[in-house]
Amino acid sequence: MKIGVYPGTFDPITNGHIDIIRRSLRIFDKVIVAVAPSPKKKPIFDIHERVEMIREAIRDISNVEIEIFEGLLAEYMKRKNAHAIIRGLRAVSDFEHEFMMALMNRKLDSETETVFLMPSEEYSYLTSSAIKEVASYGGVVKDLVPPIVARRLQDHFKKKQK
Ligand code: ADP
Repeated sequence: MKIGVYPGTFDPITNGHIDIIRRSLRIFDKVIVAVAPSPKKKPIFDIHERVEMIREAIRDISNVEIEIFEGLLAEYMKRKNAHAIIRGLRAVSDFEHEFMMALMNRKLDSETETVFLMPSEEYSYLTSSAIKEVASYGGVVKDLVPPIVARRLQDHFKKKQK
């Protein structure tokens, strides 16, 4: 059984992430969405909220597991007997950072492979940061994120205004 691990912050999950999950299931038998706390990125949703949103968003997709992971990804890959790290590549701007991380993970474990998948064109400009920015000004994000995320974003920024 081929297992892929899709690591990320998912603050919050977007339709771009879901597109990558669906594509990766054409290659892997099982995909583990590994949610990292990423405190340095100062997420607006805590890790449990992020996991909950992912769970709801991928309800109808089989062979996907969601886990919280901390520490070294290379170690986590070994623990899970996983075959490859899955990352999404949008524009050229993602390349340098992703390239560096893939090589670092390979350095930590020479057997760690990273697979890059390109999202559908309509999501290739989509980032969680842009979604948060638009939502913070009351912009419409419903075509770009799952319904639960649109609701949670609205609640989050309404609360902040109070
Ligand atoms: P990280 O903190 O690891 O960058 P993200 O949640 O921002 O976490 O991204 C996780 C992965 O998903 C990264 O490989 C990123 O490039 C990819 N990704 C994010 N948004 C999209 C998108 N719209 N299309 C394709 N891949 C995406």
